[in-house]
Amino acid sequence: MRATRAIIYLGNLRHNFYQIKKQVSNAKILAAVKADAYGHGAVQIAKTLVQEGCDYLGVATVHEAWELRQAQIKIPILLLGIPMFDEISEALNLDVTFVVSDLDMLNAIGDNSRGLSQSIPLHLKIDVGMGRLGVTLDQAAFLARAIKRYPHLFWEGVMTHFPSSDNSQLEPTRSQNQLFLDFVKFLGSEGVEPSLIHAANSGAVLDHPDTYHSMVRPGILLYGYPPSIDHPSRKNFYPVMQLESRVVLIKKLKAGQTLSYGQTYSLKHDSNVGVVAIGYADGYSRIFSNCAFVRIGKELYQVSGRVCMDQFMIDLGNQTQVERWDQVILFGPYANGPDAWDLAQLMKSIPYEVTCLVSKRVPRIYSEDSAYFS
Ligand SMILES: *Cc1c(COP(=O)(O)O)cnc(C)c1O
Repeated sequence: MRATRAIIYLGNLRHNFYQIKKQVSNAKILAAVKADAYGHGAVQIAKTLVQEGCDYLGVATVHEAWELRQAQIKIPILLLGIPMFDEISEALNLDVTFVVSDLDMLNAIGDNSRGLSQSIPLHLKIDVGMGRLGVTLDQAAFLARAIKRYPHLFWEGVMTHFPSSDNSQLEPTRSQNQLFLDFVKFLGSEGVEPSLIHAANSGAVLDHPDTYHSMVRPGILLYGYPPSIDHPSRKNFYPVMQLESRVVLIKKLKAGQTLSYGQTYSLKHDSNVGVVAIGYADGYSRIFSNCAFVRIGKELYQVSGRVCMDQFMIDLGNQTQVERWDQVILFGPYANGPDAWDLAQLMKSIPYEVTCLVSKRVPRIYSEDSAYFS
């Protein structure tokens, strides 16, 4: 087994799902498992969530839906992204539910599904401020009515997506939610009553109970992180991924010796230098050069010199307890760090990107344990 691996604590995932379930009570839950479940492994994550009673899965691409169906996952899958129209028939075969943002796509689905015996559920997406997918409000009624051309299609859902539910300002989300609700009400007056009304991502699950409607769509919260760094609920969610490696070599070097490419770090004293078997090809960004902290046992150490493709070094000091093969934690469920938020800050990014970056070459090892180290 390689020294470098990502432990996926499924017990933590179950814990996070349960926390969300408690919070949203009767609302259904669509789990965002796109991007290989934010790098955690979509099949294992989805299987675990199905056991916990998850209602719906959200993917970005038809291929992601195919992977879940290959693994015998049978619950509904919502395709959150827009496929190429030549992918629509494959998606129909996979029993994927489409999100519709415009008339051309509605027509493409209608035409591709004519021969099919069952009626096809669609979700109408409304843009209330994200400026990404979704139909603008002035076109929404027209699109909603256009489905009548296709007796075999129906609006199972109506949805929107919030651009700023993850910060402490409550206002934009409140009025965007109101615009959404006004439209849902209008649909009702037209006799269209989709059973699934949904808007809330993780930020809204935490801070906007008025947006739960009939379903919520958490992603990052399931993986253990609130979408804003200073959220008071941070300790209620347990990071699911632990990225770890090992010290594969320790050597004594003299004061003045420099470490790694560009020679950006030099030893102040004679020192023990540990080589850690992980680099940017594993998704441990070169941005962490000379700044990120890693955990070895109870101690934190700073990356010394540049992160290479497959290794980096740590100045362990003149005397050290660290031994060859010791485990090195790059991030994980540690109250005192490092976690994915700590690394995200160094990257001027968010934990989503930190876990998504963990590359294919890192084996994911699934554990049923729940683990949180305070
Ligand atoms: C990814 C995604 C979500 C989940 O977002 P989080 O911020 O991770 O909770 C919800 N809705 C849509 C449409 C998404 O694409």
